[in-house]
Amino acid sequence: MEKRQFGSTERNVVIVGQGTWEIESGDRKAAVAAIRRGLDLGMTHIDTAEMYGKGLAEEIVGEAIEARRDEVFLVSKVLPSNASRKGTVAACDKSLMRLRTDRLDCYLLHWRGKHDLDDTIAAFEQLERDGKILSWGVSNFDVADLEAALEIAGEGRIACNQVLYHLKERAIEHAVLPWCKEHGVAVVAYSPFGQVNGFPGPKAKGFQVLQEVATAHGATPRQVALRFLMRDQSVFTIPKAASVEHLAENAAAGDLQLSAAELAAIEAAFPLGKVPGSLPMI
Ligand code: NAP
Repeated sequence: MEKRQFGSTERNVVIVGQGTWEIESGDRKAAVAAIRRGLDLGMTHIDTAEMYGKGLAEEIVGEAIEARRDEVFLVSKVLPSNASRKGTVAACDKSLMRLRTDRLDCYLLHWRGKHDLDDTIAAFEQLERDGKILSWGVSNFDVADLEAALEIAGEGRIACNQVLYHLKERAIEHAVLPWCKEHGVAVVAYSPFGQVNGFPGPKAKGFQVLQEVATAHGATPRQVALRFLMRDQSVFTIPKAASVEHLAENAAAGDLQLSAAELAAIEAAFPLGKVPGSLPMI
């Protein structure tokens, strides 16, 4: 699986990782097995959050990776309501307990909330000095939020911005993606299939283009879609999959290569759309 430098960190991270939102909604043993299968397939970037299942998703991830911690690029997120100076440190400690580890590879602010960004960033820097996190980043940050974070932290400190990005929601391409590229911030595409029912079906506009490109590569439309999202070198993605077939399909997207003509055809089939009033998020 292809790896890329993860933003301002020195780490090379696989381009297709594993999301864990609602991983706790099914059978726990199956969820643990699915994450381990994902690791076997090379999807070693695991994304979770204290919010998911009120900590249950982190517990499941912790069980899945306990014997394989060093293989994993582990990311979790602090809820905005906990993101005060003290609250961020306390939330991180709880996440580390549930994840059965002594460190996160990256710790994110889930979205910008009521607490001062200065306090959250001060806590992140403290956690990094203490070795509890190896880097930190943000999520759902529009350009004004990114500018504010940069003003506080300085260049080279924000590892990533995790944002909504799929074929039918390309809003980040207007300003957020260019800003992140300019400042060496990795972009992590969440909900890359548009969640449960968001992926274009066979009768949907544009599906034929995906199918034609897929057929030319012996691939699937979803693999083509994932690869399209990662056509820019700063982008990573974290689809969530509970089924073994889905995991295998998603992992193989990491090895697909699309030509400029194929990328252009997909661009035209799923147009960028207008500049949104605010950054779309889920
Ligand atoms: P998603 O990855 O776009 O979609 C997940 C859905 O797609 C699941 O129903 C899954 O089914 C299905 N799926 C996955 N691979 C498939 C395949 N190859 N073929 C057919 N169906 C497939 O949505 P998401 O879970 O919202 O986003 C991914 C991750 O991003 C989350 O899990 C979370 O870690 C992160 N996220 C972050 C934020 C944020 O605010 N930072 C917000 C949303 C999500 P099965 O599970 O049945 O396999």
